[in-house]
Amino acid sequence: MCIFCKIAAGEIPSDFLYESANVVAFKDLDPQAPTHVLVIPRAHYENAAELAAADSVTMSELFGAARRIASDFGLDGYRITFNTGASAGQSVFHAHLHLLGGRPFAWPPG
Ligand code: AMP
Repeated sequence: MCIFCKIAAGEIPSDFLYESANVVAFKDLDPQAPTHVLVIPRAHYENAAELAAADSVTMSELFGAARRIASDFGLDGYRITFNTGASAGQSVFHAHLHLLGGRPFAWPPG
């Protein structure tokens, strides 16, 4: 079982900021901004593209959860990222949405 499957299943204790039948959200271990939350499907998909192809309802719920968490944190601007593939910086191969906020962000991203 991958590390995010274990978190979603409660095998690794974690404080969920959002939780539903299909999705959980928790703080990133190594935050890259004052707010850095990961929103993941409970089911295992290697990346966002695989999730989108297989379950567009859950993919949509990731965005809804991110919107809600951003509102809870009072973020007036935020960035959503899906690193998809090792060349794009993906290091955990269980689909996850990064919600980042609380500081200015540059464009283009590094
Ligand atoms: P990515 O590089 O897009 O695959 O993002 C993976 C993210 O997962 C990184 O930002 C890590 O800091 C984060 N991460 C890895 N293990 C954990 C964990 N056990 N709990 C919370 N975040 C984690």
